[in-house]
Amino acid sequence: MPPKAKILAFDVGGTKIASAIVEVGAKSYKVYDYQRTATPVGKDNVINKIIEIAINYEENGGFKRIGMAIAGQIDEKSDVVKNAPNIAGFTNVNLKKIVGNKLGKYVEIDNDVKCFALAENKYGQTKKYKHVVYLTIGTGIGGAIEIDDKLYRGANNTAGEFGHMIIVSGGEECSCGNVGCWEKYVGGKALEQRYYNLTGVRKEAKDIAFDSEKNVEPDQEIIKQASLYLATGLINIVNTINPEIIVIGGSVIKSEEMLKLAIEEMKCKSLTSAKKTKIATTNMQDEAFLVGAALL
Ligand SMILES: [Zn+2]
Repeated sequence: MPPKAKILAFDVGGTKIASAIVEVGAKSYKVYDYQRTATPVGKDNVINKIIEIAINYEENGGFKRIGMAIAGQIDEKSDVVKNAPNIAGFTNVNLKKIVGNKLGKYVEIDNDVKCFALAENKYGQTKKYKHVVYLTIGTGIGGAIEIDDKLYRGANNTAGEFGHMIIVSGGEECSCGNVGCWEKYVGGKALEQRYYNLTGVRKEAKDIAFDSEKNVEPDQEIIKQASLYLATGLINIVNTINPEIIVIGGSVIKSEEMLKLAIEEMKCKSLTSAKKTKIATTNMQDEAFLVGAALL
């Protein structure tokens, strides 16, 4: 068998830039040389950090091409990052061209949750399903829709932005410019803000979720409240899209309690036909974004 191509994969989000060398085969994949760094503030700093990381990989073993998963909306024709609400200032950036020209390598780019979906569909638990909704609950909430075994992209490649479904009319201001979006009630940033409002202390969402399971307050109350909002969004999704399964990833959902409470609520309140929808957490973890980026 010929050696698999080494692909440099990036997962660029609101809080971190993850990268690794990924080799993808027909039935298996390999992820190694994983690195993670905080996302710098400002468009140019983000671009420069990505280039710096890529040059470092090039000097230490090299790679054939680059795949990038971005927490934002990508124009399907031009591949320009149109908007990335959780990465400050990252609008209308032709990251593919900038990084490609600088490195002299072929670059592919797509929305991060679409990458997550590609990886789960090829190697993960959704291989056997045709109608799937993917959600990632990290800084914000991202989503992707698979219909008849294919990613549904919509007219402008932005289908699946479930994080910006309006859950509370006239609710909290969102970075997308609207108010009352789902991610303002369930996303990691929202949980951290609620914790800060109640205590005056900063605490990471994953720690709030972790402490909630140990019955620490106000962590438990914050997670309980978020689980009801999580349920509201899930009910909207199962009632309108009727997927066989919803697969959820992201750092916040590592709180099993939040998901358990949300599923109980969802099973009570969704339409009878939609009650059958399975809810599962990803078993590929954060690697799914990088593996999906390598599959582009
Ligand atoms: Zn929004």
